[in-house]
Amino acid sequence: MPKLSVEERVRCFKEVALGYSEEQAVAEAERCLQCKVPRCVEGCPVGIDIPRFIRHIRERNYEEAIRVIREKNSLPAICGRVCPQEDQCMGRCVLGLKGEPINIGALERFAADEERRRGLRAKPEIAPPTGKRVAVVGSGPAGLTAAAELARLGHEVVIFEALHEPGGVLMYGIPEFRLPKDIVRDEIEYVKSLGVKFETNVIVGRVIKISELFEMGFNAVFIGSGAGLPDFLGIPGENLVGIYSANEFLIRVNLMKSYMFPEYDTPVKVGGKVAVIGGGNVAMDAARSALRLGGDVTVIYRRTEDLMPARREEIINAKEEGVKFIFLATPTRFLGDEKGFVRRVECVRMGLSEPDESGRRRPIPLKNTEFLVDADTVIVAIGQRANPLAARGEDQIKITQHETIIVNPETYETTMKGVFAAGDIVTGNATVISAMAGGKKAAYGIHKYLMGENVLGLR
Ligand code: FAD
Ligand code: SF4
Ligand code: SF4
Repeated sequence: MPKLSVEERVRCFKEVALGYSEEQAVAEAERCLQCKVPRCVEGCPVGIDIPRFIRHIRERNYEEAIRVIREKNSLPAICGRVCPQEDQCMGRCVLGLKGEPINIGALERFAADEERRRGLRAKPEIAPPTGKRVAVVGSGPAGLTAAAELARLGHEVVIFEALHEPGGVLMYGIPEFRLPKDIVRDEIEYVKSLGVKFETNVIVGRVIKISELFEMGFNAVFIGSGAGLPDFLGIPGENLVGIYSANEFLIRVNLMKSYMFPEYDTPVKVGGKVAVIGGGNVAMDAARSALRLGGDVTVIYRRTEDLMPARREEIINAKEEGVKFIFLATPTRFLGDEKGFVRRVECVRMGLSEPDESGRRRPIPLKNTEFLVDADTVIVAIGQRANPLAARGEDQIKITQHETIIVNPETYETTMKGVFAAGDIVTGNATVISAMAGGKKAAYGIHKYLMGENVLGLR
C-alpha cells in the first residue's frame, strides 16, 4: 500500500496510507485463489463473502464488489482502514501459510473509495413505518449500525450522543491520519439519509434517564455507550499539570480540530519531550499525534516490541516518523517542578515471567533498576474501561464487576425489559467491526421484541 512520504506526514495530519490505484487493486485481486472453502471469511466477524467481492474487483465491476461487501458491512470505508485484519480475515488467508496473504482490508477500502468517487452508493429499501420508536444511546460504530438497521426495518430512531459531534471513537479517538473525518461524516450523513435523527450534547444517565426515554414515547432503548473511561497508573505525581489520559488528549486533538492547525489553534499544549505510556493502538495514535504537534516522543512499554498489542503497521509507521521506544520499563512516579508541571518520569526496568495459562508473559519489576526520562507532557494510554453512565439510576440493568452491561447473548437484551446493548459497553474495549456486529445483532433483537417473534425480513 503506497504511503505519504515521512517528510510530509510528520508535518500534517493527512492520511498516511494512500490506498491502492486501480491497477494495484486489480493485481492484488488477481492473486486470490478463490478458495472453495474460504478460510478468510471465517476470520471476518461479520462474514463478508470475501472471494466474491474480490472476484468483482478482478473483473473491474466495483458496483457489484461494494454491493457484496455492504450485504454484511455498513461501514466498509472505515473497516477497510482500521480493522485489525492481520488477526482476522487476512490472518486466515491460505496464501499466508507460505507467502503473502491477500490484503483484504486494502481491497475493501478500494471498493468503498471507488463507490464514493463514482457516486455508486444506492439507498437500501426501507420497510414501511412500523409506528415504533427506538432511542439509541451513543453514536459510535455500535450505535450507528444499530440505528441504520432499525431505520431500514421501518422504525423511527433517535440517537442521543453525549459529545457535540457524532461518531464515537471513529471521530474523537482514531486520528485523521489513520481515518479521515470526511469518511466518518459521510457515513453519518448516510445514516441520517435513512431517517435517523441525532440529538447531540445529551448525556443519558445524567440529563435523561433510560426510564424517562420510555416515558417520552420510545418503545425500546439501545445502549452503545462504549468504553471511554480511561485507566490510570495510580502512582505518585499523576495529577501534575501536563499529564493527560490518552482519551482526553485524543479528544482535544481530534474534536477540537488541532489536527487542522494552523487554521485552528490547538488547545493542547505539546512541545518539548513527550512520554507516552502503553503499547496498544491508542498509545500509537497518541504518540503519532503528539509528534505531529511538535513533540519529541518516547513510548514507554512494559513488555517487548513483539508483545505490543498495537497493529504492526502502526508500530512501523510510528518508528518511521521518529517516535522512540523504551521497552521492558514502567513508570513508578512522576516528578514535577515548583509550579506543579510534570518534568520527569521515574521508571523501573521489567523482566518477563514464563508464559501463564493464557500464554502471556507477565511483566515483573526488577529491583534497583530505577531510571529517569525527561518529559514535559505525559500521555497515559494503558487502557479504557466500559462507561456505565448511561445505565446510572436504573437498578434493573445489571453490570459485571468490570462495569460492562450484562446482555442475553442471543437477543442482546439487558436485564431491563426493552433495553438492549452492544459494542464496547458489553464486551469491554474491542474493535470497530465487533461493535458493528453487536449493533446489528442487537437491532434484530429489538426488531423481534417490537414486532413479535415471527418477523419477516431478517437476514
Ligand atoms: P464508541 O466508539 O466508544 O462510541 C460510544 C459513544 O457513546 C461515544 O460517542 C460516546 O460519546 C457516547 N456516550 C457514552 N456515554 C454516553 C451517555 N451516557 N449518553 C450519551 N452518549 C454517550 N478498533 C479497531 O478495530 N481498529 C483500530 O485501529 C482501533 N483504534 C483505536 C484507537 C483509539 C484511540 C481508540 C480509543 C480505540 C480504537 N479502537 C480500534 C477500538 C474501537 O474504536 C472501539 O472498539 C469501537 O469504537 C467501539 O464502538 P462503540 O460503538 O461500542 O463505542
Ligand atoms: Fe476483514 Fe474487517 Fe473487512 Fe471483515 S470487515 S473482511 S475482518 S477488513
Ligand atoms: Fe482468496 Fe485468501 Fe480468501 Fe483464499 S483465503 S479466497 S486466497 S483471500
